[in-house]
Amino acid sequence: MSKFLRLKCACGNEQNVFANASTKLKCLVCGALLAKPTGSRVEVTEGTKVLRVL
Ligand SMILES: [Zn+2]
Repeated sequence: MSKFLRLKCACGNEQNVFANASTKLKCLVCGALLAKPTGSRVEVTEGTKVLRVL
């Protein structure tokens, strides 16, 4: 099972997030919501790209 996802925000910022995070994940640059918790793996929001599974 993967543990981290590398996400790219609509603003261009890339960051690694915990795939099983239990809190909302926000972009560190623009503050946009990147992914939200679902109970298991996070659900990536519209406009956010999953670049890689780490
Ligand atoms: Zn952003």
